[in-house]
Amino acid sequence: MRQDPDCIFCRIVAGQVPCTELLSDDVALSFLDIAPLAQGHALLIPKEHYQTIDQMPPELAAAVLKHLPALAAAVQKATGCEGFNILQNNARVAHQFVPHVHFHLIPRSAGDEFHFNWPAGMYPAGRMERLAQAIRKNLP
Ligand code: AMP
Ligand code: ZN
Repeated sequence: MRQDPDCIFCRIVAGQVPCTELLSDDVALSFLDIAPLAQGHALLIPKEHYQTIDQMPPELAAAVLKHLPALAAAVQKATGCEGFNILQNNARVAHQFVPHVHFHLIPRSAGDEFHFNWPAGMYPAGRMERLAQAIRKNLP
């Protein structure tokens, strides 16, 4: 299994650093974020070390992500939150500080302090279809 001895999440997986565990199986681990954006803020990670999600084998991604519905339901029940965001940051430019793939499950409530800047734009004529073609060409 790919592990990085310098990675904090690999060290959690190896039992060298404690965590407040929510679930664990052969390939996935979930625990509470130590610096929560809201009470019950949870992380879901593959036990194997991959830096960004595009590097993960799809079967492993599926085996990790299958936990999200039950985990989200459990966090909602336990915290009484009204909604939640699933957030997954890839690379520092996208606010990834721990270089081991992780999914944030962030409980949301009306009036909370977690705000997105969502600067929705527009496509010039033709650009949307050209970009879609370029993306489709790169899909397996
Ligand atoms: P990101 O900005 O997406 O890389 O987020 C990394 C997250 O990992 C942050 O929300 C941290 O609070 C969290 N984190 C870092 N170290 C630990 C740890 N030892 N236990 C639990 N959560 C951690
Ligand atoms: Zn790691």
